[in-house]
Amino acid sequence: MTEYSVVPTGPLSENCYILAREGKAWIIDPGADPESIEAEISSRGLTPVAIVMTHGHFDHLGALDKLLTHWPALPVVMRPEEPDWAFTHPSNQYPPFYFHQKRPANLITDIGDTYTCGGITARLIPTPGHTPGGQCVLIEEDVPSPLCFTGDTLFAGSIGRTDLPGGSFGDLNASLSKLKATLAPETTVLPGHGPASTMERECRVNPYLQDDRMDF
Ligand SMILES: [Zn+2]
Repeated sequence: MTEYSVVPTGPLSENCYILAREGKAWIIDPGADPESIEAEISSRGLTPVAIVMTHGHFDHLGALDKLLTHWPALPVVMRPEEPDWAFTHPSNQYPPFYFHQKRPANLITDIGDTYTCGGITARLIPTPGHTPGGQCVLIEEDVPSPLCFTGDTLFAGSIGRTDLPGGSFGDLNASLSKLKATLAPETTVLPGHGPASTMERECRVNPYLQDDRMDF
């Protein structure tokens, strides 16, 4: 069985997810508080095998340096549109809480539709709009119902902002339509901030997923 737990991190309460199967774990969006992330991993007796990023905002990757000091071999998976700004753009830090992280030595951006590591396979769905290289991470194998880590693309009842550098409401709207067409109703939606939801619920109540939604 593939199972997840959540570690809320940092002053922006970003959700870092620990996704595990048979003792191996992915760390999804380690935003801050590396000690809490490490404690969660060790309390579950897991061995981390990859860090997978939904996007490159500072509040999602702020624990990278410390985690990679602890586990230097871990690959960091990120879409190719993100690294050139994520590790250097002046606005992509928020001192004294979040600072630029080093570009990881083992950065993997040459990714296709799926990524497999440590016996866990995800579909990687490009969802630009919040940032140019945003992606949703969909787990369909060895789960009772699909899990989708939606980053800051889709929240319970809301969506991510598009007014930050590289953001585009038109792109985000297209990404939301893609999610509606791709994700089964029973999919658990696991956002980058706030509570979980299901796709069935979001299609019913999220104003940004309605067919008659306004184009902003
Ligand atoms: Zn973000």
